[in-house]
Amino acid sequence: MKTEFYTLGSFEFPADAVVIKGKLEAEGIPVFLRDEATINSDPLISAALGGVKLQVYSSDRERAKEIFDEVRNYATDNLGNPVVCPNCKATKSEIYYSRSNVFYKLFPFFEPRKYQCMQCNFITKPAR
Ligand SMILES: [Zn+2]
Repeated sequence: MKTEFYTLGSFEFPADAVVIKGKLEAEGIPVFLRDEATINSDPLISAALGGVKLQVYSSDRERAKEIFDEVRNYATDNLGNPVVCPNCKATKSEIYYSRSNVFYKLFPFFEPRKYQCMQCNFITKPAR
């Protein structure tokens, strides 16, 4: 029998993934982090690969998603207010990295920050 995994999310920084991992494990859900070794040895390369992936067994998928939704931090603006989606007015947005070209793949911190609404997937580009 093949073991199926579900990728709950990707994290740019291993520390973020470790926080979520701790919450899930406290609920009795086994968690697997991928690519963490790569990240710690070379941050630039690991960012280009998409950071740390947090995986759970497919059988734990629904429970893991519920817990993840409770503990994840939604994006906030510079004043700490939740980013409001201009399309559906939801406040559940995440930072969105398009990484559309090689330059940003190598230097993701130069990419202008955007947000993606978790409800309707609308991508917001905040005014500067
Ligand atoms: Zn929306």
